[in-house]
Amino acid sequence: MENRTKRTLIASAAGFAAGLDAVRAAKFKPKKKEYPALPEENVNVERYTETLQAAIRCKTISNIDMSKMDKNEFIKLHNLLRKQYPLMHEKLKVEDIGFAALLYTWEGTDPSLKPIALLGHQDVVPITDGTLGDWKHPPFDAVIDDGVLYGRGAIDMKNHLVGVCEAVETLLEEGFTPKRTVYLCFGCNEEIVASPESQAELISKTLESRGVELESLLDEGGGLLNMKIPGVIDKNIVGIGIGEKGNVEFRITVPGDGGHSSAPPKHTAAGKLADVIKDIENHPFPVRVSPEIKNVIKILCENVEFPVRLLTVNYKALMPAIVLAMANIKGASSLMRTMQAVTMLEGSPQFNVLPKNATAGVNFRIIPGEHVSDVEKHLRKVIKNKDAVIEFRGGNEPSIISPTDSRTFNLISDLVGSMSDRNVIVPFIVMGGTDARHYQNICSQLYRISPFQMDFEIVFTSHGTNERIPVSSFHDGVAFFKRYIRKLSSE
Ligand SMILES: [Zn+2]
Repeated sequence: MENRTKRTLIASAAGFAAGLDAVRAAKFKPKKKEYPALPEENVNVERYTETLQAAIRCKTISNIDMSKMDKNEFIKLHNLLRKQYPLMHEKLKVEDIGFAALLYTWEGTDPSLKPIALLGHQDVVPITDGTLGDWKHPPFDAVIDDGVLYGRGAIDMKNHLVGVCEAVETLLEEGFTPKRTVYLCFGCNEEIVASPESQAELISKTLESRGVELESLLDEGGGLLNMKIPGVIDKNIVGIGIGEKGNVEFRITVPGDGGHSSAPPKHTAAGKLADVIKDIENHPFPVRVSPEIKNVIKILCENVEFPVRLLTVNYKALMPAIVLAMANIKGASSLMRTMQAVTMLEGSPQFNVLPKNATAGVNFRIIPGEHVSDVEKHLRKVIKNKDAVIEFRGGNEPSIISPTDSRTFNLISDLVGSMSDRNVIVPFIVMGGTDARHYQNICSQLYRISPFQMDFEIVFTSHGTNERIPVSSFHDGVAFFKRYIRKLSSE
């Protein structure tokens, strides 16, 4: 759409909204669900902190080539869990799966009930070359400075994995026995997103071969974000991931003649490839305003402060303008469409040699509702050079969308909702990949949330420099897992 048309559309929608009843906007209170008050939860924050620090000191770094992963570091982590959580290792069955994955089974008393699972991954991403010196504290030292714990894995996701173990140990100390079987599934190469050797998949296949069908599972992917923009919004946005985008790779090859660079054709294969890349980049995928994205917009519009709410209270009329604005914001745009990124390029190995072939690698993040076949169709349509060879190189379809009216979803909402009046629940589609998708063969209710409260700036340290977590989030994080397991497994 042309810029002028865009501006007219936004202006007219804004004008329309501004003409609305201002009193209604001022008085408007988002429908507040009453959440049950929760009794205090006993949490051993000291043991949790000590265990998380020790876990971060295990350098469980992922590598696409598993022979390059240091198994000893994973064994160190397993031994740590054994030492810190003796009851968990006495009462639950522990199995080593594949390279270094762990499957714990906490047998329930009623085998007629479908089991539940809590997922976690033990691995972390490496430190990017040249950034080690930028860390305030070394990434594997797990130093606490001014109430913040620094280290690789602090939020992705040793905090979550150790939190689950801490909760199980404490529940056992309190004499709790589940009615419903509880599985803890800890993969070890989640960070290698397109790995053909996913160890999480190995766990899920193991469960499938035993005839296990899960009621629901909980993994990382969503979180509790403190969103404070003075005069606009002052809430904790609680994102519960109910689905995730697909992640696929295509290779596009343009053939050439090769030969000596002293007698080149008008366009070499590399030059023709440049046109192909322009064709791709000039044709982004269309925006899809799914029911999920509409719901996100609705919830956010309802929760901004007055007088900004003057504009947003009539979000239905504003929807086209909001969608248009979001489609042009990096990050927000990814929520609404399949994204494409040309990433790898190959041509001639030498300055004086003409390329025989020139290739581009393109990564796509597919939004639920679209498929790998749609990506291929799109490429064939937009690439004008019909000699270009388009090859699917692997990846996975978007996940299923999990229901927002299930027992598990309602429990997560109740638990997080009752933590604070500022919490606003937002079901959403996770843009990255998680291990959860590997369990769709045995589960249709997959939820993604890490119950640790943090500011926006901290979230962005995941996979980056100075990854860190506030110590103040530990108590409520572990308490969430205790309440979640206790309630979900007792009925
Ligand atoms: Zn992760």
